[in-house]
Amino acid sequence: MFGPPGAGKGTQAELIEKKFGAVHISTGDILREAVANGTEIGKLAKSYMDRGELVPDEVVIDIAIAKLQEIGDSGFLLDGFPRTVAQAEALDKALSASGIPLDTVISLNVPEEEIVRRLSGRRVCTECGAIYHIDSIPDGTLNCLLCGGKLIQRADDNPESIRNRLRVYDEQTSPVLDYYRGRGILVEINAVGTVEEVFCRLMEALCSDKA
Ligand code: ADP
Ligand code: AMP
Repeated sequence: MFGPPGAGKGTQAELIEKKFGAVHISTGDILREAVANGTEIGKLAKSYMDRGELVPDEVVIDIAIAKLQEIGDSGFLLDGFPRTVAQAEALDKALSASGIPLDTVISLNVPEEEIVRRLSGRRVCTECGAIYHIDSIPDGTLNCLLCGGKLIQRADDNPESIRNRLRVYDEQTSPVLDYYRGRGILVEINAVGTVEEVFCRLMEALCSDKA
């Protein structure tokens, strides 16, 4: 699942996971957990993540491939990986070695002003990872409506890091879309609209793609 930061990848991935039971693999979530646990990888990743830069390929590739191996034969949904052509090539290699096909690559398309609005108002639950937007929850909500955990603003959801992540997406991740477009498996979705509207478009695209 591709799309600039804030396009709604995590939000839609939660819904896809619920509907199809595919394991949701978010390299961003794995890295944030490493940062929170103070592991060596977390310490290394933190400075890149805070600035909105990409964590080096060799680190992220190892993490993502290890996770794929851990889940074995289950269906999966990759969110935020691959983000560079080198990562896409490493993924291809790992998947073909295991005989697992990559069925579909989705790109969620959202204009920049809406991205900035979504990221500035994003709140996430520290316990269950649920994603909210301040415009969609009652004023003054401090706790997760699902599990009661604390809602926080991500360290990288500040104006400077947001600008940098958008630049990094254009420069380093857009070429990955061309890589998959060339293979005919890229599906582009208009991701402006309510969460439910975008999910319906995704379902239509995924189902017609599999037909
Ligand atoms: P990503 O994983 O692509 O960075 P998220 O799923 O975390 O994006 O969503 C970013 C922010 O946008 C969150 O605050 C989320 O609640 C909000 N959001 C997601 N989808 C929509 C949508 N269709 N319309 C409005 N806001 C949305
Ligand atoms: P995300 O949660 O997908 O928005 O990712 C948050 C941050 O984690 C990014 O800005 C990067 O610093 C880092 N990150 C996540 N996935 C990758 C990846 N595939 N390659 C490099 N860095 C990544």
